[in-house]
Amino acid sequence: MTRGGTYFDRKRVLVTGGAGFIGSHAIDRLLADGHEVLCADNLFTGSKQNIAHHLDNPRFEFLRHDVTFPLYVEVDAIWNLACPASPVHYQHDPVQTTKTSVHGAINMLGLAKRLDCPILQASTSEVYGDPTVHPQTEDYWGNVNPIGPRSCYDEGKRCAETLFFDYHRQMGLPVKVARIFNTYGARMHPNDGRVVSNFIVRALRGEPLEVNGDGSQTRSFCHVDDLVEGLVRLMDTGPEFTGPVNLGNPREFTIGELAREVIALTGTKSEIVHTDLPQDDPVRRRPSIDLAKRELDWEPKIALHDGLRRTIDWFRSLLEDAK
Ligand code: NAD
Ligand code: UDP
Ligand code: UDP
Repeated sequence: MTRGGTYFDRKRVLVTGGAGFIGSHAIDRLLADGHEVLCADNLFTGSKQNIAHHLDNPRFEFLRHDVTFPLYVEVDAIWNLACPASPVHYQHDPVQTTKTSVHGAINMLGLAKRLDCPILQASTSEVYGDPTVHPQTEDYWGNVNPIGPRSCYDEGKRCAETLFFDYHRQMGLPVKVARIFNTYGARMHPNDGRVVSNFIVRALRGEPLEVNGDGSQTRSFCHVDDLVEGLVRLMDTGPEFTGPVNLGNPREFTIGELAREVIALTGTKSEIVHTDLPQDDPVRRRPSIDLAKRELDWEPKIALHDGLRRTIDWFRSLLEDAK
């Protein structure tokens, strides 16, 4: 275990993508831990609503900025989270998605190089593509289609990892790469298109839950509070620990099971309907978290039914407020 870094010393932290789902929870935690936060976000998929509760906090500042352009600021650490994460959003403008991952990484790494500060990259389980190894360990190189509809995201994130490790090897930059697996919780966008938010919103509206394919494909769902704890622990490791490290919940569910769980927890009369499986949709996904356990002393604590209950409550009040 390499904990014992300097995360808990008061810092000015830049969070790119901080107005998004994971970013806004990361900011809640950073501010609660006493840091100053500069949130840089172009509001493509994020919203000011997610950070509205911090706008009066003198330790918080919001900057509307696109990471594909250079950014000259003075900070002590960078969390690079900017990138649309839902397939619906990242396929909306795939060229911009690749630019966000690649140009965004170059700019944030250039910034980190000038400041000689630690930089975290929100990478993804998608670097494993449609994996042929189960569970996925960090030494697996992946099975990614370079020219398909998901490639802008998968290959963009893979290229960003390459850049992070080249800046590390070439300039000695302290980098931290987290491979994040499917994460869910409050503040997912209701039209985000990802499976947990889709199922909950449809269940609460009494609409049919659309299961793509026969629902036997699997994912492993991690609650955002567990994920943020993992990111904090990663940033608190010494400079010798770079990752990549998987952060996700190792409990694997089929999409059919998830649909049934959401129906049971919401008490909805919604039915399940089946639609076509999108191209290149991974068949199985489950992280090995042995490395995170060993190096970060981290594992998820929130069971899916508890996390879903909390998320359902949040969506319920969101939908009621919108009435
Ligand atoms: P999100 O879409 O809610 O948040 C992404 C944020 O980045 C949004 O606020 C968006 O406006 C901002 N953004 C997008 N392009 C930008 C640009 N060019 N310049 C500045 N800001 C930009 O997604 P999320 O789920 O919070 O994901 C956050 C990060 O975590 C992403 O990098 C994503 O790839 C990664 N990740 C998420 C998951 C997951 O399950 N949620 C899984 C793996 C990796
Ligand atoms: N950059 C930035 N902020 C900084 C320093 C650099 O946005 O404080 C950007 C800059 O635009 C450059 C990129 O980061 O294109 C990479 O910087 P680096 O120093 O690695 O490369 P170079 O400037 O030599 O191309
Ligand atoms: N999915 C589904 N119905 C939906 C949304 C997604 O059956 O309304 C499926 C999707 O095809 C995939 C899984 O759920 O097999 C997870 O999809 P998501 O977009 O949440 O994340 P990713 O595919 O990036 O893991």
